[in-house]
Amino acid sequence: MAESRYDVIVVGAGFGGSACAGLLAKRGLKVLLLEKNARAGGKAMTLSKKGFTYTAWVVISAPTQGTLLEVVLKELGMENKVELVAPGVNGSTYKTSSGKWLIGPQPAPGEVMDPNKMFDWLEVKEANREESLRLMTELTMMSPQEIATLNDITFADWLGHYKVPKSVLAFLLGPVADGCFMVPYDTLSAAEAVRTLQDIFLRSGGVFCKGGFGKLAGTYAEAVTENGGKVIMRARVEKIMVSRGRVTGVATDKGIFQAPVVVSNAGLQPTVLKLVGEEHFDKGYVNYVKDLVPSWGMMGTRYFLSKKVTDFPYGTIFSNDSPYSIEKWLKAKAEGPPKEITVWYEVPVNYDPKAAPKGKQMLMTGFWCPADPQLSAKEKKAWWDKGEEMLLKVFPDLPKYIEFKEGYSTRDVSNLTRDQVLPGQGGECIGLGQVVDQAGAYKPSAKSPIQGLYYVGCDAGGYGVGIHQAVDSAINVAGMVQKYHLMHQAMQ
Ligand SMILES: Cc1cc2nc3c(=O)[nH]c(=O)nc-3n(C[C@H](O)[C@H](O)[C@H](O)COP(=O)(O)OP(=O)(O)OC[C@H]3O[C@@H](n4cnc5c(N)ncnc54)[C@H](O)[C@@H]3O)c2cc1C
Repeated sequence: MAESRYDVIVVGAGFGGSACAGLLAKRGLKVLLLEKNARAGGKAMTLSKKGFTYTAWVVISAPTQGTLLEVVLKELGMENKVELVAPGVNGSTYKTSSGKWLIGPQPAPGEVMDPNKMFDWLEVKEANREESLRLMTELTMMSPQEIATLNDITFADWLGHYKVPKSVLAFLLGPVADGCFMVPYDTLSAAEAVRTLQDIFLRSGGVFCKGGFGKLAGTYAEAVTENGGKVIMRARVEKIMVSRGRVTGVATDKGIFQAPVVVSNAGLQPTVLKLVGEEHFDKGYVNYVKDLVPSWGMMGTRYFLSKKVTDFPYGTIFSNDSPYSIEKWLKAKAEGPPKEITVWYEVPVNYDPKAAPKGKQMLMTGFWCPADPQLSAKEKKAWWDKGEEMLLKVFPDLPKYIEFKEGYSTRDVSNLTRDQVLPGQGGECIGLGQVVDQAGAYKPSAKSPIQGLYYVGCDAGGYGVGIHQAVDSAINVAGMVQKYHLMHQAMQ
C-alpha cells in the first residue's frame, strides 16, 4: 500500500512527467509518479511484437550533440542504463524535376554537409545559390537577441525576406519544419522555428534510443523509486483536488493521494477542463485555454518485413509540393490528402540490431493528418493509402516482403496519451501547436493560476522538437517546483 502524502505528485509518465519526477526525486523531494498506462513513455512509448521492438510510431530526436535527454540522465546518474545512437545518415528522398526520386547526399563521418552537394541534389541553379546560402547561414547564425524580435511573426513571414527556389523552401519546410512542429509554416512562430532549427543545423539530429524511446522515459521514472519516491503504473488520475484555490492532491482509481504540489503531464487542456474542472478557474483563463490550438496529428503504418529493404535508419520522402500552408491544410482536411504528401519513415533495426529477428525489418511510416481522434474509417483509409502510395515510389519492392502490416492513427495516440476534451483535439502529435501567440515568448505559463499546480511536457515550459521539448520543460518545471517547495518549507 502506497503512502498517501507526498511533496509532489506528478500525473503522467510521458517524457515531461517522468523526467520531471526523476529530477525532483533526485533533488530530495518525496515524489509520487502516477501513470495510467502499464509503461512510461506516453507519445513515445516502446512497444514490442513477434521479436520486433520499436517506439510506437516514427520518433527520432534532435539535436544530437548536447541533447537534454542525456543531460537529465547524467543528473540522475543513469547514463549507463540506456544507449542513445545517431548513425549520422538518413534516406531523405526528393522528387527531381524529371520525376525521379533521388536520395540526398550524406555528410562524411564527423563532418557537416557541404551546401553545394545539397544544392546539387535540390537542383538549385548557380544563380540562386548565393541567396539560398544566405538564408541557411542567417537562420543558423542568428543571435538570441535577433530571434527575440521574431515572436510576433510567422516562419512564412520571415522566409518571405529571401528569394530562393521552391526546392530550397520545400526542403526546409517539408521534411524539416513540418516534421519538427506539425503546424503549417504560415502559422508557425518564427522565433520558435529559428531557435529550434539552429539547434538541429548546428548540433545535428536523428538520435534514437536502443530498446525504443520508452526505455529512456522508463529509466527517468526508475530514478523516482531509486531516490525514495513511488511510481504507480496503471493508475488513472480522475481528479486533481483543489480547495480554496490551491491543490491538495489527486483522486485515482487506486485511491486518494495528497500533496501541496501537483505537476500535470496530462496536457494543459485536459488538466484544466477535465482533471481540475473549469469551475476552479477564472472565466478569462478558461477561455484562453479553450482557445489554444493543438499541433496537427500524425498517423502511419508499421510494415513487418521478411527481408531488409533499406540500410537507412530513417528518411523522408518529399517533393516541391510537400509543405503545408494553412490553405493547403484546410483543403486536405475537407477533401482528404493532397496528391503528394511528405512521408517520414523509421527502421528501428538500423539503429539497434536487437530490434528485429535476424534478417527481418520493421519499417514504419508517419505523415500529417487531422489531430481529431474521431476520424472515420474512410478518412483514415484515405490517409493510409496515400502514405503507402508515396512509400512505394521509393520502395517499389516492399510489398513482396510484407509479412503483416498495421496502421496507427490519432485514435491510438489519444488512447495512449491525452483525453479528448475539445472537438478536434486529443490525437495531436506534439502537444499545443508552436504557433505565433502560443510559442516563443507567448508559450503558455507552466505555472497555473491555481496555487501548487504546474504543467509539464510539450504544452508549457520548454521549446524545441517533440520529446526534446518535453524534457526541456521537465528541467525548467523541476527548477520552478523545487524553488516553490523550498520557499514553502522555509515559511512553515
Ligand atoms: C505519431 C507521432 C510521431 C512523433 N514523432 C516524433 C519525432 O520524430 N520526434 C520527436 O521528438 N517527437 C515526436 N513526436 C512527439 C513526441 O512524442 C511528443 O511531443 C512527446 O513525447 C510528448 O511528451 P509529453 O511529456 O508532453 O506528453 P505525453 O507523451 O503525451 O505524456 C503524457 C502522459 O500522461 C499520461 N496521462 C494522461 N492523462 C493521465 C491521467 N489522467 N492519469 C494518469 N496518467 C495520465 C499519459 O498516459 C502519458 O503517459 C511524435 C508523436 C507522435 C504521436
